[in-house]
Amino acid sequence: MDVRTHKPDVRKKVSLKIFNTLRLEAIAPIMFVAHSTDDLSEFAKRVCSWDDFYLLGAGSNIFIENDILNKPVLILGKEFSYIERVDSLSLEIGAATALSKVISYTIEQNLRGLEELAGIPASIGGMMACNASSFGKELLSLVEEAAVIDESGEIKHVKKSDIRYSYRRSSLENCIIIKAILRFDEACDVREKVISYLGKRLDMQDFSYPSAGCIFKNPLNVSAGYLIDKCGLKGFRVGGAQVSLKHGNFIINRADAKAGDINYIIAVIKERVNERFGIILEEEIVRWKI
Ligand SMILES: Cc1cc2nc3c(=O)[nH]c(=O)nc-3n(C[C@H](O)[C@H](O)[C@H](O)COP(=O)(O)OP(=O)(O)OC[C@H]3O[C@@H](n4cnc5c(N)ncnc54)[C@H](O)[C@@H]3O)c2cc1C
Repeated sequence: MDVRTHKPDVRKKVSLKIFNTLRLEAIAPIMFVAHSTDDLSEFAKRVCSWDDFYLLGAGSNIFIENDILNKPVLILGKEFSYIERVDSLSLEIGAATALSKVISYTIEQNLRGLEELAGIPASIGGMMACNASSFGKELLSLVEEAAVIDESGEIKHVKKSDIRYSYRRSSLENCIIIKAILRFDEACDVREKVISYLGKRLDMQDFSYPSAGCIFKNPLNVSAGYLIDKCGLKGFRVGGAQVSLKHGNFIINRADAKAGDINYIIAVIKERVNERFGIILEEEIVRWKI
């Protein structure tokens, strides 16, 4: 699909509360909503460097630390949310497409591949940038080809063999991902598998309050949640933020949490885990900080 129709859409003083799953309040002085690849190329050519703006997907891995941001926020419009059949086993998917939409489609069409990731509240572009994974399945393992806008504003098609990725890292993290071709297997039990993995996710993760998923990466051979639990920090609360009682690596927004509350909890967790286990936890969340 060639997404090329409207003029750039610039919005001012946008509240980001509904754009981040932690539901932190923050104002973006300017938000660019790109409706076409031309908009994105133009935007990339105008900014001096990749550090001059924030790129927003579904906002499920970001931690916004300031009340007012000092850089524009770029978001892909609904034109980048689509699924098109390429052949019997391959789909072209726009980067702004919600994973939930893709999962529903693959259930209907008996396409196996994404079941382990079901329930992650993310966009396909954000998942590719972060190499989202779950129950041993990495999203990027399905990607045959990606189309991205690079820093010069050019569209590049990146083949599978040129996409490098590791735990929560991807060679596509410094591009604007616009679409990807994912390859699936055929199967008739996709719905059952999705239900089964969703059940496991609901058992493990905390969906009762807003969060950004896991705050820390898992160190080698041990889960960060286990270490946090062993430090007795489950339930630890500061202001409106709390370490989830269900999953030690989730910080939930119980009631109007402030970034300072979350930062305090993160600092305490790091200190206690280091004191007790000699392990320095590395953050998984992407900080937006002036
Ligand atoms: C309840 C919950 C459960 C979760 N479970 C998991 C899990 O099981 N496994 C897992 O890996 N993660 C999990 N996460 C974290 C999160 O969903 C993933 O990191 C996801 O990949 C983020 O995608 P997003 O679209 O929300 O991106 P955002 O949070 O909006 O952005 C994350 C990063 O990706 C970049 N980005 C976004 N869109 C693009 C694009 N089009 N091109 C280039 N870069 C882009 C952003 O600039 C930012 O740096 C969970 C989060 C929540 C809230």
